Amino acid sequence: MKRVFIETYGCTLNHADSDIMRGILEEAGYAVFPDAPIFILNTCAVKETTENKLISRIEKLKAEGKKLVVAGCLGMEPNQKRVKKADPDAVIVLPDAVSHIVEAVECAERGESRIFSGGTLKGSLPREYTAPILRIGAQDGCVGNCYFCQTKIARPKLASIPLREIKRWVEEGVKRGAKEIQITGQDTGAYGIDIGSTLPEMLREVLDVEGDFRVRLGMINPGHAKRMLPELLKLLGHEKFYKFLHLPVQTGSEKVREEMNRMHSVGDFEDVVRNARKKFPDLSVSTDIIVGYPTESADDFEESKKLLERVEPDTVNISKFSSRRGTEASRLGKIDTLEVKRRTVEMSGLVKKLGKKRNSRYLGRIADVLITEMQKTPTGRMENYKQVCIGGDAGVGEWKKVKIVDCNHGSLFGEQV
Ligand code: SF4
Repeated sequence: MKRVFIETYGCTLNHADSDIMRGILEEAGYAVFPDAPIFILNTCAVKETTENKLISRIEKLKAEGKKLVVAGCLGMEPNQKRVKKADPDAVIVLPDAVSHIVEAVECAERGESRIFSGGTLKGSLPREYTAPILRIGAQDGCVGNCYFCQTKIARPKLASIPLREIKRWVEEGVKRGAKEIQITGQDTGAYGIDIGSTLPEMLREVLDVEGDFRVRLGMINPGHAKRMLPELLKLLGHEKFYKFLHLPVQTGSEKVREEMNRMHSVGDFEDVVRNARKKFPDLSVSTDIIVGYPTESADDFEESKKLLERVEPDTVNISKFSSRRGTEASRLGKIDTLEVKRRTVEMSGLVKKLGKKRNSRYLGRIADVLITEMQKTPTGRMENYKQVCIGGDAGVGEWKKVKIVDCNHGSLFGEQV
């Protein structure tokens, strides 16, 4: 039995790429085993800390005698040299070359180091159908050029999967038990710009698929969300569509937003949230904030806090600024580490307070929860994608009616009724 193992890091899009690589490998007769001689590391390069962790992982696996295929964003220059230093024999598969995964594994078996780029578009490739959660990587690349972002360098070209392929994946996935379809990408708002389609058009087709499932829309830039707001509001009204938006704003300071070269204003973000919440008061909003961008003054940081206090997002992914090789921002120097640490602690405190405030609105409510995973207790999502941990027995893929009895900043807790 030919055996490989895939270790995946980073975003949902990267996990969706691993689902495709697993499908191709299984079709070629490979089995995925944790003690396999060949390891495929599907890497992430979004932060320096992640990069360092992955380089140590490569060195450790190399020392254990594993043969390595390095896929994902770390394989791309300007990080490739570091990967090759950690393991000169590593075979590299760039993010747009997942169709070459079998050849790459065969090269690794032979000890032949190669770099694979380009290849067959992902939509026509075999894939693994996971359930109850099915990840659909609808597009790669974006139309932005944010000065802090290295993902843009690793996945430079906008490549949208044709609508009919996405629909075929969803139909097959639902037939095989998928209950939650995660439509993801580098920036889902850019979907279709390269193929004469649009995100709303694609989502309408997905929602037309027969079956009892929910759709979670992944990260969409506020600029795109504002541009397509009327259609997005209609889609949010569909019973199969989680009332949830992930809108990365990154900063509350218009000055810093401009210096980051983000293609939306802070006001665009607020407009989208305000209009969507007017129609769906329980809309769950997730955003991302970078703390310590090189040009962020103490006043700019206060602007970010004030923005969150005004908008009250449900969840905020806080990142300390991480200088990434090859980006414009890497030439801007850094703010004192202790000051960045102080700001991050302050921001985390605020985010927890706001999260708890948003969640306490649900105490005493009765909600329908789709069980999607088994943590300490059965855990699922209510219609706005809020995470609910429930007591009692429940199976993955089941709907349960619960009364919300408690909460913290990140989760709700419910009892079955
Ligand atoms: S929109 Fe900006 S942050 Fe997002 S992937 Fe593109 S360049 Fe990076």
